[in-house]
Amino acid sequence: LAIDWKISASFSIDITSEQKSLTLLNTMKKSFAESPLYYLLSEPLDPGSKIKLNLNFKNTFESSENKSEFGSNQWYPRLYWDGLQTHDSFSVKLEIPEGYALAISGRLNENTGRYTIDRAKSFGIYLGKDQNTESCEIDDILITTLFSDKGAKAAKVCLETAVDCIKFYKDWLGFYPYKFLYIIPGGRGRWGGYPFSTGIVVIHGEETYKEGEPLTHWQRITAHEIGHQYWGEWVLDPNSPAWVWIGMGIFADTEYILARKIDPQRRQGWMSNYIKGISNYYDTTVDIPPASLAKIKYDHNNTVIHSKGFSIISALDSVLG
Ligand SMILES: [Zn+2]
Repeated sequence: LAIDWKISASFSIDITSEQKSLTLLNTMKKSFAESPLYYLLSEPLDPGSKIKLNLNFKNTFESSENKSEFGSNQWYPRLYWDGLQTHDSFSVKLEIPEGYALAISGRLNENTGRYTIDRAKSFGIYLGKDQNTESCEIDDILITTLFSDKGAKAAKVCLETAVDCIKFYKDWLGFYPYKFLYIIPGGRGRWGGYPFSTGIVVIHGEETYKEGEPLTHWQRITAHEIGHQYWGEWVLDPNSPAWVWIGMGIFADTEYILARKIDPQRRQGWMSNYIKGISNYYDTTVDIPPASLAKIKYDHNNTVIHSKGFSIISALDSVLG
């Protein structure tokens, strides 16, 4: 049995099956063992047969009075499949300290008091001190934004965009993969956003919002991050090759952005990034070996992964429909 977890001063675990403790096979170095942890099963497990395991684990985090947020998407042990990404189901009970707003990769079941999700790539918990929350429900999907007082205006635009965008994606693609979405604040600057965990996206720089500014930036980034919920969280192996899921994500948000006339130049913008790379004689090979990638001086992520990736998906769309 292989488990993605470690043992150290702040990580511990004890695994039992039928009330018997399993023996850890890793060699401990000064009460420390790296992931993956290997355990001996009392009997071999045949293909198709089942076993019930109880994992009693603990992970402690450093905290202090003035720490304004806490977040983790790796706080739990998981079966280790030799590095392969998997989707798992979760049912989580949580005691939330007072004064914190919560974003979590599950939908609350009022009857059991547990947060649950089926088929999640990762289960994140985020707590923000003194943050406000606002929610909207569209077709049974609960969308919640967490924000500071100063970030309220931008958060409102993102929430409204998320509602409209999820509706658009659902009408177009026939489904939305999860029953909820959280948008949480990120860093100070306008650095875009990223998926924090399944069902939780980060949008940076909400506090930089200026009264009367065009809403394009916020609409674009919201649509983009929601696109990743399909292609990064639900459909594909998110890490490699990155151009597929990123290209698909951009393809999805471009469809929305053009339909709503938010940024009519969006498609040409991405493609001309790539064409500019060609005119500079860059080597824009997509599946490039890591050793060659390390030698590249231009912005490979932007020119190839994002722009060429999107161009390839668009070309396939023209050919295949
Ligand atoms: Zn992205």
